[in-house]
Amino acid sequence: MDVNEKHIVIGNSKFEYRFKTPIERALHYKLLAENLQKKYSSMRYDAWLRRRGVRRRISHYYAKARCIIEDWVKKTSHRIVVLARQHQYAVAREDLTGLVESLMKLPREHKVSLLILSYRRISEWIDWQCGKHGVPSIAVDPMDTSTKCPRCSSKMRENGYRVLKCPRCGFEADRDTVAILNIEKRALTQMGGSLATPTAPQMTDVDPNRCGEPMNPLRGTHAL
Ligand SMILES: [Zn+2]
Repeated sequence: MDVNEKHIVIGNSKFEYRFKTPIERALHYKLLAENLQKKYSSMRYDAWLRRRGVRRRISHYYAKARCIIEDWVKKTSHRIVVLARQHQYAVAREDLTGLVESLMKLPREHKVSLLILSYRRISEWIDWQCGKHGVPSIAVDPMDTSTKCPRCSSKMRENGYRVLKCPRCGFEADRDTVAILNIEKRALTQMGGSLATPTAPQMTDVDPNRCGEPMNPLRGTHAL
């Protein structure tokens, strides 16, 4: 599987399926909250901000944005892992720790914070669902997954909008398809070449709560 801002793409060399991410929808509520906060933080409205109604509306919008992401992450991770179990596949994803860290260095506004939340939560939930359903989960090195040719490992070139072409072997595909194929290739290498080889689910970065589900460390804060 591969995650970007607009889609989660799942697949391998035989099939491919895309789920839309709710980042745009969550962003809408986050902007509503931020605009309200901005409006009422001017001196003129000092008294207003102390009013419960306004504060409650602001935190309601922030909570709504977080909920949209959380709900989607739970449902989507469940669908992906159940599908993997049905077809006896392992779930391979990029190890996004580095990406999350680099995103965290950017100014934490608007979309960036929603992306951080989404990437982090989808990784945690995929691992948790894999553990629950007995599906092997593999995190692979994310380096150049969407630029290297999955056939011959040459650097691919842009050939139109989100389309890449390999100058050496002529392989051409959508950027997301290239990523999927590279992730599949790396996962197979890590697993010793067979999808049927089970490896222990990687649960190390999941912090389980009482029910064993990944906790939401951001609940109750405004910082998304
Ligand atoms: Zn090639």
